[in-house]
Amino acid sequence: MQLAKRFLPFAILLASSGSIALAQNTEAKAPPVIDVHVHAMDGSFPGIGPMCPNTSKFSASDPKTKEEPFGWVKEPCTPALYPSAPGEYMKDVLAEMERLNVTAVVFGDPKSVQKWKDAAPTRVIPGTSFQTAFPSTQRVPLEELRRDFTTGGFKVMGEIGLQYEGISPSDPSVDSYFAVAEELDIPVAIHMGTGGSGRANVTMPKFRGSMGNPLLLEDLLARHPKLRIQVMHAGYPMIDNMLTLLQANSHVYVDVAGLIWSYPLKEVNRYIERLVDAGFEDRVMFGTDQLLWPKLMAYSISVIQNADYLTTDQKRDILYNNAARFLRLDTSQGK
Ligand SMILES: [Zn+2]
Repeated sequence: MQLAKRFLPFAILLASSGSIALAQNTEAKAPPVIDVHVHAMDGSFPGIGPMCPNTSKFSASDPKTKEEPFGWVKEPCTPALYPSAPGEYMKDVLAEMERLNVTAVVFGDPKSVQKWKDAAPTRVIPGTSFQTAFPSTQRVPLEELRRDFTTGGFKVMGEIGLQYEGISPSDPSVDSYFAVAEELDIPVAIHMGTGGSGRANVTMPKFRGSMGNPLLLEDLLARHPKLRIQVMHAGYPMIDNMLTLLQANSHVYVDVAGLIWSYPLKEVNRYIERLVDAGFEDRVMFGTDQLLWPKLMAYSISVIQNADYLTTDQKRDILYNNAARFLRLDTSQGK
Protein backbone atom coordinates (compact mmCIF):
# COMPACT_ATOMS: atom_id res chain seq x y z
CA MET A 1 0.00 0.00 0.00
CA GLN A 2 2.77 2.35 1.02
CA LEU A 3 4.64 1.71 -2.21
CA ALA A 4 1.66 2.40 -4.41
CA LYS A 5 1.13 5.68 -2.59
CA ARG A 6 4.72 6.68 -3.10
CA PHE A 7 4.46 6.00 -6.83
CA LEU A 8 1.45 8.22 -7.32
CA PRO A 9 3.28 11.52 -8.03
CA PHE A 10 5.35 9.81 -10.73
CA ALA A 11 2.18 8.48 -12.31
CA ILE A 12 0.75 11.96 -12.56
CA LEU A 13 4.01 13.16 -14.08
CA LEU A 14 3.89 10.36 -16.64
CA ALA A 15 0.25 10.86 -17.44
CA SER A 16 0.75 14.54 -18.14
CA SER A 17 3.83 14.07 -20.31
CA GLY A 18 2.65 10.90 -22.04
CA SER A 19 6.28 9.90 -22.44
CA ILE A 20 7.72 6.50 -21.64
CA ALA A 21 11.24 7.70 -22.33
CA LEU A 22 10.98 10.24 -19.52
CA ALA A 23 10.82 7.50 -16.92
CA GLN A 24 13.97 5.96 -18.34
CA ASN A 25 15.91 9.18 -18.24
CA THR A 26 14.91 10.58 -14.89
CA GLU A 27 14.72 7.57 -12.59
CA ALA A 28 17.32 5.06 -11.54
CA LYS A 29 16.37 1.64 -12.85
CA ALA A 30 14.59 -0.55 -10.34
CA PRO A 31 15.84 -4.16 -10.13
CA PRO A 32 14.22 -6.19 -12.92
CA VAL A 33 10.90 -7.91 -12.35
CA ILE A 34 9.16 -10.54 -14.47
CA ASP A 35 5.36 -10.56 -14.36
CA VAL A 36 4.24 -13.91 -15.76
CA HIS A 37 0.54 -13.10 -15.93
CA VAL A 38 -0.68 -10.04 -17.84
CA HIS A 39 -3.67 -9.72 -20.17
CA ALA A 40 -3.50 -7.92 -23.53
CA MET A 41 -6.44 -5.64 -22.94
CA ASP A 42 -6.97 -2.29 -24.52
CA GLY A 43 -9.79 0.13 -25.18
CA SER A 44 -12.26 1.30 -22.61
CA PHE A 45 -14.07 -0.58 -19.89
CA PRO A 46 -17.46 1.03 -19.32
CA GLY A 47 -18.92 0.41 -15.90
CA ILE A 48 -15.57 -0.44 -14.32
CA GLY A 49 -14.83 1.79 -11.34
CA PRO A 50 -12.02 2.14 -8.84
CA MET A 51 -10.91 -1.04 -7.09
CA CYS A 52 -9.73 -1.75 -3.58
CA PRO A 53 -7.17 -4.55 -3.53
CA ASN A 54 -7.12 -7.15 -0.73
CA THR A 55 -10.70 -6.41 0.33
CA SER A 56 -11.21 -7.67 3.88
CA LYS A 57 -14.14 -9.96 3.12
CA PHE A 58 -16.68 -11.36 0.71
CA SER A 59 -20.32 -10.45 1.01
CA ALA A 60 -23.15 -12.66 2.17
CA SER A 61 -26.06 -12.15 -0.19
CA ASP A 62 -29.59 -13.40 -0.73
CA PRO A 63 -30.75 -14.42 -4.24
CA LYS A 64 -34.16 -12.95 -3.36
CA THR A 65 -32.62 -9.47 -3.38
CA LYS A 66 -30.68 -7.73 -6.14
CA GLU A 67 -27.14 -9.04 -5.91
CA GLU A 68 -23.97 -7.18 -6.94
CA PRO A 69 -22.09 -8.54 -9.99
CA PHE A 70 -19.05 -9.22 -7.76
CA GLY A 71 -18.83 -10.80 -4.33
CA TRP A 72 -16.35 -8.46 -2.69
CA VAL A 73 -17.78 -6.19 0.00
CA LYS A 74 -17.69 -2.52 -0.86
CA GLU A 75 -15.28 -0.77 1.43
CA PRO A 76 -13.20 2.39 1.05
CA CYS A 77 -9.43 2.24 0.74
CA THR A 78 -6.44 4.53 0.19
CA PRO A 79 -5.33 4.59 -2.47
CA ALA A 80 -8.03 2.98 -4.58
CA LEU A 81 -6.84 1.80 -7.99
CA TYR A 82 -8.45 3.58 -10.93
CA PRO A 83 -9.12 2.32 -14.44
CA SER A 84 -7.47 4.14 -17.35
CA ALA A 85 -9.16 6.80 -19.41
CA PRO A 86 -10.78 5.31 -22.55
CA GLY A 87 -8.14 4.08 -24.98
CA GLU A 88 -5.23 4.70 -22.59
CA TYR A 89 -4.94 1.32 -20.88
CA MET A 90 -2.15 -0.30 -22.88
CA LYS A 91 -0.07 2.87 -22.86
CA ASP A 92 -0.58 3.27 -19.10
CA VAL A 93 0.45 -0.31 -18.32
CA LEU A 94 3.50 -0.16 -20.59
CA ALA A 95 4.56 3.08 -18.87
CA GLU A 96 4.22 1.31 -15.53
CA MET A 97 6.31 -1.60 -16.82
CA GLU A 98 9.02 0.82 -17.94
CA ARG A 99 8.99 2.65 -14.60
CA LEU A 100 9.04 -0.57 -12.56
CA ASN A 101 11.51 -2.33 -14.92
CA VAL A 102 9.06 -5.15 -15.62
CA THR A 103 9.17 -7.69 -18.42
CA ALA A 104 5.80 -9.40 -18.76
CA VAL A 105 4.26 -12.45 -20.33
CA VAL A 106 1.23 -10.92 -22.05
CA PHE A 107 -1.63 -13.29 -22.91
CA GLY A 108 -4.48 -12.89 -25.36
CA ASP A 109 -5.50 -13.48 -28.95
CA PRO A 110 -2.48 -13.16 -31.28
CA LYS A 111 -3.61 -9.84 -32.77
CA SER A 112 -4.08 -8.09 -29.43
CA VAL A 113 -0.82 -9.46 -28.06
CA GLN A 114 1.07 -8.37 -31.19
CA LYS A 115 -0.11 -4.82 -30.57
CA TRP A 116 1.52 -4.90 -27.14
CA LYS A 117 4.67 -6.52 -28.53
CA ASP A 118 4.96 -3.84 -31.24
CA ALA A 119 4.54 -1.08 -28.64
CA ALA A 120 7.18 -2.50 -26.25
CA PRO A 121 9.30 -5.16 -28.02
CA THR A 122 11.81 -5.67 -25.22
CA ARG A 123 9.27 -5.78 -22.38
CA VAL A 124 6.62 -8.11 -23.79
CA ILE A 125 6.91 -11.91 -23.97
CA PRO A 126 3.94 -12.98 -26.09
CA GLY A 127 1.56 -15.73 -25.00
CA THR A 128 -1.54 -17.18 -26.61
CA SER A 129 -3.90 -20.09 -26.10
CA PHE A 130 -6.07 -22.60 -27.93
CA GLN A 131 -9.19 -20.92 -26.56
CA THR A 132 -10.40 -18.18 -28.90
CA ALA A 133 -11.50 -16.06 -25.99
CA PHE A 134 -11.59 -16.35 -22.23
CA PRO A 135 -13.70 -18.16 -21.27
CA SER A 136 -14.73 -19.89 -24.48
CA THR A 137 -15.32 -23.42 -25.66
CA GLN A 138 -14.21 -22.46 -29.19
CA ARG A 139 -10.83 -23.88 -30.20
CA VAL A 140 -8.12 -22.36 -32.33
CA PRO A 141 -7.23 -24.85 -35.12
CA LEU A 142 -4.22 -26.88 -34.00
CA GLU A 143 -2.09 -25.98 -37.03
CA GLU A 144 -2.81 -22.28 -36.58
CA LEU A 145 -1.65 -22.46 -32.97
CA ARG A 146 1.43 -24.42 -34.01
CA ARG A 147 2.30 -21.60 -36.44
CA ASP A 148 1.91 -19.01 -33.66
CA PHE A 149 4.73 -20.77 -31.82
CA THR A 150 6.97 -21.87 -34.69
CA THR A 151 6.90 -18.74 -36.84
CA GLY A 152 4.72 -16.19 -35.00
CA GLY A 153 7.12 -15.54 -32.13
CA PHE A 154 4.79 -16.69 -29.34
CA LYS A 155 6.61 -18.12 -26.32
CA VAL A 156 4.00 -19.35 -23.81
CA MET A 157 0.71 -21.24 -24.27
CA GLY A 158 -1.90 -19.61 -22.02
CA GLU A 159 -3.98 -18.47 -20.34
CA ILE A 160 -5.79 -21.77 -20.51
CA GLY A 161 -9.06 -21.54 -18.56
CA LEU A 162 -10.59 -24.97 -18.92
CA GLN A 163 -12.20 -24.86 -15.49
CA TYR A 164 -14.43 -22.06 -16.83
CA GLU A 165 -15.72 -24.68 -19.27
CA GLY A 166 -16.11 -27.15 -16.42
CA ILE A 167 -13.48 -29.52 -17.78
CA SER A 168 -10.20 -30.85 -16.45
CA PRO A 169 -6.80 -29.95 -17.93
CA SER A 170 -6.29 -33.70 -18.34
CA ASP A 171 -9.44 -34.00 -20.48
CA PRO A 172 -8.60 -36.04 -23.62
CA SER A 173 -10.39 -33.50 -25.84
CA VAL A 174 -7.58 -30.96 -25.37
CA ASP A 175 -4.66 -33.34 -25.21
CA SER A 176 -3.46 -32.67 -28.76
CA TYR A 177 -2.78 -29.03 -27.82
CA PHE A 178 -0.65 -29.99 -24.86
CA ALA A 179 1.12 -32.56 -27.05
CA VAL A 180 2.12 -29.71 -29.40
CA ALA A 181 3.37 -27.65 -26.44
CA GLU A 182 5.51 -30.56 -25.29
CA GLU A 183 6.79 -31.23 -28.80
CA LEU A 184 7.70 -27.56 -29.39
CA ASP A 185 9.02 -27.18 -25.83
CA ILE A 186 6.60 -24.31 -25.11
CA PRO A 187 5.62 -23.77 -21.45
CA VAL A 188 1.89 -23.83 -20.72
CA ALA A 189 0.08 -21.56 -18.24
CA ILE A 190 -3.15 -23.00 -16.86
CA HIS A 191 -5.73 -21.28 -14.64
CA MET A 192 -6.12 -23.46 -11.53
CA GLY A 193 -7.90 -22.45 -8.36
CA THR A 194 -10.78 -20.14 -7.67
CA GLY A 195 -12.87 -17.93 -9.97
CA GLY A 196 -16.29 -16.45 -10.27
CA SER A 197 -16.03 -13.72 -7.67
CA GLY A 198 -19.05 -14.87 -5.71
CA ARG A 199 -21.43 -15.06 -8.66
CA ALA A 200 -20.17 -18.07 -10.59
CA ASN A 201 -23.56 -19.76 -10.70
CA VAL A 202 -25.11 -16.69 -12.32
CA THR A 203 -22.36 -15.18 -14.50
CA MET A 204 -20.39 -18.30 -15.48
CA PRO A 205 -22.48 -21.38 -14.75
CA LYS A 206 -20.00 -23.81 -16.33
CA PHE A 207 -17.21 -22.80 -13.95
CA ARG A 208 -16.17 -25.55 -11.55
CA GLY A 209 -13.84 -24.95 -8.64
CA SER A 210 -13.26 -28.70 -8.56
CA MET A 211 -11.69 -28.51 -12.05
CA GLY A 212 -9.06 -26.17 -10.59
CA ASN A 213 -7.71 -28.86 -8.28
CA PRO A 214 -3.93 -28.94 -8.93
CA LEU A 215 -3.90 -32.75 -8.79
CA LEU A 216 -6.00 -32.81 -11.99
CA LEU A 217 -2.72 -31.95 -13.74
CA GLU A 218 -1.21 -35.32 -12.79
CA ASP A 219 -2.60 -37.33 -15.70
CA LEU A 220 -1.57 -34.61 -18.14
CA LEU A 221 1.96 -34.62 -16.72
CA ALA A 222 2.09 -38.41 -16.89
CA ARG A 223 1.14 -38.34 -20.56
CA HIS A 224 3.56 -35.49 -21.30
CA PRO A 225 6.54 -35.87 -18.99
CA LYS A 226 8.50 -33.00 -20.53
CA LEU A 227 5.64 -30.50 -20.39
CA ARG A 228 6.54 -27.38 -18.39
CA ILE A 229 3.49 -26.13 -16.48
CA GLN A 230 2.79 -22.78 -14.82
CA VAL A 231 -0.08 -23.29 -12.38
CA MET A 232 -1.74 -19.90 -12.50
CA HIS A 233 -3.10 -18.55 -9.22
CA ALA A 234 -1.04 -21.28 -7.49
CA GLY A 235 -4.08 -23.53 -7.23
CA TYR A 236 -5.37 -21.29 -4.44
CA PRO A 237 -6.66 -22.29 -1.89
CA MET A 238 -5.88 -25.98 -2.38
CA ILE A 239 -2.48 -25.79 -0.75
CA ASP A 240 -2.16 -29.46 0.21
CA ASN A 241 -2.82 -30.64 -3.33
CA MET A 242 -0.60 -27.89 -4.74
CA LEU A 243 2.30 -28.98 -2.53
CA THR A 244 1.68 -32.60 -3.48
CA LEU A 245 1.95 -31.74 -7.17
CA LEU A 246 5.04 -29.54 -6.71
CA GLN A 247 6.77 -32.23 -4.70
CA ALA A 248 6.11 -34.90 -7.34
CA ASN A 249 6.91 -32.78 -10.41
CA SER A 250 9.96 -30.57 -10.25
CA HIS A 251 9.28 -28.66 -13.44
CA VAL A 252 5.87 -27.47 -12.26
CA TYR A 253 5.93 -23.79 -11.19
CA VAL A 254 3.19 -21.59 -9.74
CA ASP A 255 2.27 -17.94 -10.14
CA VAL A 256 0.65 -15.90 -7.37
CA ALA A 257 -1.28 -13.67 -9.78
CA GLY A 258 -4.82 -12.63 -8.99
CA LEU A 259 -4.89 -14.10 -5.54
CA ILE A 260 -2.22 -11.59 -4.49
CA TRP A 261 -4.73 -8.72 -4.62
CA SER A 262 -8.12 -10.38 -4.47
CA TYR A 263 -8.04 -12.01 -1.03
CA PRO A 264 -7.41 -10.51 2.41
CA LEU A 265 -3.72 -9.71 2.74
CA LYS A 266 -3.12 -11.94 5.75
CA GLU A 267 -4.49 -14.90 3.81
CA VAL A 268 -2.38 -14.05 0.73
CA ASN A 269 0.78 -13.92 2.80
CA ARG A 270 -0.10 -17.13 4.60
CA TYR A 271 -0.51 -18.96 1.27
CA ILE A 272 2.76 -17.68 -0.20
CA GLU A 273 4.54 -18.42 3.07
CA ARG A 274 3.23 -22.00 3.01
CA LEU A 275 4.63 -22.51 -0.50
CA VAL A 276 8.01 -21.12 0.56
CA ASP A 277 8.14 -22.85 3.95
CA ALA A 278 7.41 -26.18 2.27
CA GLY A 279 10.60 -25.75 0.25
CA PHE A 280 9.32 -24.46 -3.09
CA GLU A 281 10.77 -20.94 -3.03
CA ASP A 282 12.49 -21.69 -6.36
CA ARG A 283 9.17 -22.32 -8.10
CA VAL A 284 6.99 -19.42 -6.98
CA MET A 285 6.74 -16.75 -9.69
CA PHE A 286 5.40 -13.24 -9.40
CA GLY A 287 2.35 -12.39 -11.46
CA THR A 288 -0.29 -9.71 -11.27
CA ASP A 289 -3.13 -10.94 -13.50
CA GLN A 290 -2.82 -7.35 -14.72
CA LEU A 291 -6.14 -6.11 -16.03
CA LEU A 292 -8.30 -2.98 -15.97
CA TRP A 293 -6.37 -0.96 -13.37
CA PRO A 294 -2.80 0.01 -14.44
CA LYS A 295 -1.53 0.50 -10.88
CA LEU A 296 -2.39 -3.08 -9.99
CA MET A 297 1.09 -4.23 -11.02
CA ALA A 298 2.94 -1.80 -8.73
CA TYR A 299 0.57 -2.67 -5.93
CA SER A 300 1.11 -6.41 -6.39
CA ILE A 301 4.90 -6.04 -6.48
CA SER A 302 4.66 -4.14 -3.19
CA VAL A 303 2.96 -7.13 -1.56
CA ILE A 304 6.06 -9.25 -2.23
CA GLN A 305 8.44 -6.44 -1.31
CA ASN A 306 6.65 -5.87 1.99
CA ALA A 307 6.50 -9.58 2.93
CA ASP A 308 8.46 -9.75 6.20
CA TYR A 309 8.65 -13.57 6.06
CA LEU A 310 10.73 -13.48 2.84
CA THR A 311 14.46 -12.83 2.73
CA THR A 312 15.89 -10.36 0.22
CA ASP A 313 17.09 -13.29 -1.91
CA GLN A 314 13.70 -14.98 -1.77
CA LYS A 315 12.01 -11.78 -2.92
CA ARG A 316 14.40 -11.53 -5.89
CA ASP A 317 13.74 -15.19 -6.72
CA ILE A 318 9.97 -14.67 -6.71
CA LEU A 319 10.10 -11.34 -8.52
CA TYR A 320 12.63 -12.37 -11.17
CA ASN A 321 14.92 -15.38 -10.96
CA ASN A 322 12.35 -18.17 -10.84
CA ALA A 323 10.47 -16.90 -13.89
CA ALA A 324 13.74 -16.31 -15.75
CA ARG A 325 14.63 -19.97 -15.16
CA PHE A 326 11.14 -21.22 -16.08
CA LEU A 327 11.07 -19.12 -19.27
CA ARG A 328 14.77 -19.79 -19.96
CA LEU A 329 15.67 -16.11 -20.16
CA ASP A 330 19.14 -14.73 -19.60
CA THR A 331 19.45 -14.56 -15.78
CA SER A 332 22.65 -12.52 -15.68
CA GLN A 333 20.87 -9.28 -14.76
CA GLY A 334 18.59 -10.80 -12.13
CA LYS A 335 20.82 -11.11 -9.08
ZN1 LIG B 1 -6.53 -16.86 -14.40
